Amino acid sequence: MKCPRCVQQIHRAADGCPHCGFVLSDADALFGAQEVRLRSLTDAAGLMRRQDRAKVEKAMERFNRRFPQLFIAVHTGSFRGFSNLRQFGFWLLNRGAFEDVPVHLPNEAGILLALDAESKAAGMTFGYRAEAFLTEEDTFRCLSRAHAYWLEGRHADGIVRAIAQLEEILIKRSRQAWWPMAASSALRAYRPLPNESSRGTRPSTSRKRSTAAVSSS
Ligand SMILES: [Zn+2]
Repeated sequence: MKCPRCVQQIHRAADGCPHCGFVLSDADALFGAQEVRLRSLTDAAGLMRRQDRAKVEKAMERFNRRFPQLFIAVHTGSFRGFSNLRQFGFWLLNRGAFEDVPVHLPNEAGILLALDAESKAAGMTFGYRAEAFLTEEDTFRCLSRAHAYWLEGRHADGIVRAIAQLEEILIKRSRQAWWPMAASSALRAYRPLPNESSRGTRPSTSRKRSTAAVSSS
């Protein structure tokens, strides 16, 4: 995984970042040390109207139905900077208790899309269950897909596009030839589409998180 603060490569099992010393309690100092209960769609920045939220919820439900071993969460807020946004993603997947996510799904099954209303940045953070299927380039592609909509203030439409792109990527990955036994149970639930090219990728065992700037400035 990459350190959410200095973005250098660190080992998932490490207690903290050997480069900058980042530990979870640093993120706690920014966002709170308590477990936070929230819904998987939380528009704290108030970027969406009711019909927008309904649109996003529909896309999230579709994703969760298609990939029952994973879940998607969307959070908007004001994080005062891109570094904080990255740390927030890391923090929320550690401290968040998503009350509308089935209890059998731990946060390591989560993929979090976070939007910073202030800096107009977005980031995607994923737990290690998804990391066998996703790379940082993938999450960047998802955010890029949404970028034009977000620039126009069409937050919900952008989020829906990002989720659709994520599904497309995961479906493609599920058709790849070689998977470790640990991933096979997750794979069986995927519904591949026809005519998708398949490529071999060796999944690694470390947790990865990815963020990508989509600043409009
Ligand atoms: Zn670091």
